[in-house]
Amino acid sequence: RAKVAPSERVAVFESGMEVDRMARLSLEQDIEGALDKGEFELVYQPQVILDTAQIIGAEALIRWRHPLRGYVSPAAFIPVAEEMGHIHSLGAFVLEVACREATHWPRDVKIAVNVSALQFEAGDIVGAVRRALVNSGLEARRLELEITESAFATDTDRLRETFTDLLALGVSFALDDYGTGFSSLGYLHRFPISKIKIDRSFVTDAPTSSQSMAVLRSIITLGDGLKIRTIAEGIETIEQAQALRAIGCTEGQGYLYSKPISSVAFRTLVTKRPTEPESLLLAAS
Ligand code: C2E
Ligand code: MG
Ligand code: MG
Ligand code: MG
Repeated sequence: RAKVAPSERVAVFESGMEVDRMARLSLEQDIEGALDKGEFELVYQPQVILDTAQIIGAEALIRWRHPLRGYVSPAAFIPVAEEMGHIHSLGAFVLEVACREATHWPRDVKIAVNVSALQFEAGDIVGAVRRALVNSGLEARRLELEITESAFATDTDRLRETFTDLLALGVSFALDDYGTGFSSLGYLHRFPISKIKIDRSFVTDAPTSSQSMAVLRSIITLGDGLKIRTIAEGIETIEQAQALRAIGCTEGQGYLYSKPISSVAFRTLVTKRPTEPESLLLAAS
């Protein structure tokens, strides 16, 4: 940590950063015990075919039920867990629970799990995935790993080997938050990526922003050309869903269809959906 000169401390405190720093320090201490205490849980957000609103999968999203703070956002604690080296045990936990819970869902429904770039750089992601599959009995083809571009920051032999080993297990890969980073095209065909997740920021501004629509169109065209599926994240309105369908996006995820829900609630939703499609089919048409 950078040293702060006494004369600067007042300013830092006044800007509220000192408070953030203290909150962060206690987060760091708390993450250590939270796994053992069972304070982490997963919720699942449906992924649908835009044309029919049929559910084809779910993304697992971690939640921390903190005894004092209530729910802490993953956006707040994942970066801390990454810095402290806890991301490997946390990541293994997520894989275990997600695979286990997905075995209670219909077999044609996939489970997508977010994996930190750090889990690719160090640690034993291959072992963690293999253990989660073996322990749960989940078919490997049902597991999709969501990675961000930062996983490709360094194209090393180790990274390639990791991809090869995971692919050999039978899992697939989705590229998360696409369009926000460097969006380099090279690794899209150099690595075995079967799905591009278009970042929510472009979806939010659709269909009114012509810039966002242009970006959406180009990503979907790219996916078509490379035979990589595209899924739009953060769909909140019917207008957004319709605009995406109109330009050829086939899959979607967002509050319009469902917020993230418990495994049990997801199972209920996915098993009753074919007979009670009214609201979402309306949304999709
Ligand atoms: P992400 O993987 O891009 O996940 C999508 C985020 O968008 C989730 O936030 C989800 O709840 C939210 N979302 C989905 N639909 C909508 C919508 O229609 N409107 C809005 N406003 N938001 C929507 P969440 O659950 O807070 O997760 C934030 C990020 O934390 C995730 O972004 C992911 O990068 C990370 N994360 C979550 N769970 C895990 C995990 O198990 N492992 C790792 N490594 N990262 C995780
Ligand atoms: Mg994700
Ligand atoms: Mg995302
Ligand atoms: Mg995101």
